[in-house]
Amino acid sequence: MEIRTGYADYNYTIHVDYGILKDCIFRYTASYNSVHFLVDQNVHALYKDGLLSFVQNPIILEGGEASKSFDAFKHITETLLERGIQRNHLVVVIGGGATGDAGGFAAATVLRGVDYIQVPTTLLAHDSSIGGKTAINSTHGKNLIGVFHRPKAVIYDLTFLETLPQHELLSGFGEVFKHALLKDEKTVKRLMDATSNGVSLDMMKPFIISGIETKMHYVTSDEKESGIRKYLNLGHTLGHAIEYKYKMPHGMAVVLGLYFMMFASNEEADRNIFDLDLFRQYFELHGYPLEQLGTIDEAEMMTLMGKDKKNQSTDATGFVLMHDFGQCYFTEIDSSQLKKYISQLKESL
Ligand code: NAD
Ligand code: ZN
Repeated sequence: MEIRTGYADYNYTIHVDYGILKDCIFRYTASYNSVHFLVDQNVHALYKDGLLSFVQNPIILEGGEASKSFDAFKHITETLLERGIQRNHLVVVIGGGATGDAGGFAAATVLRGVDYIQVPTTLLAHDSSIGGKTAINSTHGKNLIGVFHRPKAVIYDLTFLETLPQHELLSGFGEVFKHALLKDEKTVKRLMDATSNGVSLDMMKPFIISGIETKMHYVTSDEKESGIRKYLNLGHTLGHAIEYKYKMPHGMAVVLGLYFMMFASNEEADRNIFDLDLFRQYFELHGYPLEQLGTIDEAEMMTLMGKDKKNQSTDATGFVLMHDFGQCYFTEIDSSQLKKYISQLKESL
């Protein structure tokens, strides 16, 4: 399966399938003078004698958020320069979202930018590898230092997903679910039916493809996030605060944020757009810790959400809510109202 981006120029292809990596990579590398591989260390350990046996002399990244530190950035760029990287070389970044962000940022900045290919290896990275955002972390917060730099291709070999631990699968599934909500009610229903016995890889491919297409739609319409790209933050405002406070995997916290989004959307619309009991049962059945929402501290969450970079004013918090499945809007909820919603949600659990 190939999906072509729809920008006005500098388009690229997203290749998605099982067992495609080697053939696809060679199609691209042929036109460069040299190739530098950046690989997540866990992925390297798992696949160096298999899927990645063709990868020569990779630069190994620690994996996870550690790859997005200043020290890691220094290590990657200095190593690339030591190895004589030139403008007509290609960088191939192989790993989860963290490796993709860090490797993409290194490719975007070394020699003022060289071409790179994203090879995502987690379910969550069906989201993070699309859209050209690259970043590392600051002591002031996540993803605060970065640039937009579109890859030359994304090669998503789904074989990698087979070794993902269950909690990483659930985390990535949070974003798959978000993309279904952004699309339409039919897609959400189909996804819930397909996962009624649990989240597994067998049924995931069509939903991954649909998620990529949905993300592409928002990203190509609004690359720099001045308008509808914000809708991709659905569930993320409270989600980020929960992720930070409880050190929960990103997509798991997003699911909790999505549940709050459903609650607040119902309240704002004064009607039941979302059947909260149904979604609560579904999320709990799949192992998302919704009970954590019952223990959050309103004041602490408000402080943490105030630090969310999507927030635009001081006494109100910007939220993406929904008029209906597939229909988002951006609104600012003032502090007293927001506190009330969080308290009501806690009581309802
Ligand atoms: P991750 O990259 O930290 O990977 C999670 C863990 O899984 C790591 O320990 C990694 O080593 C391991 N791993 C990776 N692939 C594996 C495989 N195939 N088998 C077994 N283990 C494997 O986390 P993630 O959830 O993929 O990505 C999260 C990151 O993505 C965050 O840093 C977030 O900020 C970023 N992100 C970026 C964007 C964007 O638009 N650029 C969007 C969303 C998220
Ligand atoms: Zn996310």
